[in-house]
Amino acid sequence: MCMYDEDDWLMISGIQHFVFCRRQWALIHIEDQWVENILTYEGQEKHKRADDPKFREKRKDVIVERALRVHSPTLGVTGVCDVVEFYKSSTGVGLSKYPGLYVPLVVEYKRGREKKNLSDVLQLALETMCLEEMLGTTITTGDLYYFATNKRISIPIDEELRNTAKKTVQEMHNYWEKKYTPIVKTGKWCNRCSLKDICLPVLEHRQNVRIYMEERLGKE
Ligand code: SF4
Repeated sequence: MCMYDEDDWLMISGIQHFVFCRRQWALIHIEDQWVENILTYEGQEKHKRADDPKFREKRKDVIVERALRVHSPTLGVTGVCDVVEFYKSSTGVGLSKYPGLYVPLVVEYKRGREKKNLSDVLQLALETMCLEEMLGTTITTGDLYYFATNKRISIPIDEELRNTAKKTVQEMHNYWEKKYTPIVKTGKWCNRCSLKDICLPVLEHRQNVRIYMEERLGKE
């Protein structure tokens, strides 16, 4: 089984960038470019409460952990779960700090409402798969909570979703290994991109070179 070196573990949250735009992900995670914009700022503010690493709560049969760090050497990813709830159950796993057995449930908090793309679901699946690997258990569902609609949605972590998550991470690793920033199609979504001021002039320049060359060759 392939085990990635810790230096090559990719940030799970990066899948948000990767699904939105492969190039944006590479600019941020391979080239270390980052520009704050209002969308990323708002997202961080909303996450503040969920990301309090000192927070741990035990209710009767439920333990709630916030900002729980997870990783998977086999997938080569690492990240922080906003919240993990552990429900006492005879079908669960043992936890070092508490007596009894517990079934874990990852809860990922999101600004805005449900997205049409798979980025939130894939992030949730990867966090869940990390937790499974760390605890030696199987977790069948996870939850997404959306601030804008105040909705909490249960997501089945099924075979199809797992395979899509693995395939997407493999694609990220391929770019990472080659340290390659792809050139992609631009569109109206670029207006919402934190990196458009860095990215678009470069792409436009490349396009100009192509057009220039085509014109030159056409004339000769
Ligand atoms: S400006 Fe457009 S093409 Fe460039 S990184 Fe952003 S979304 Fe991708």
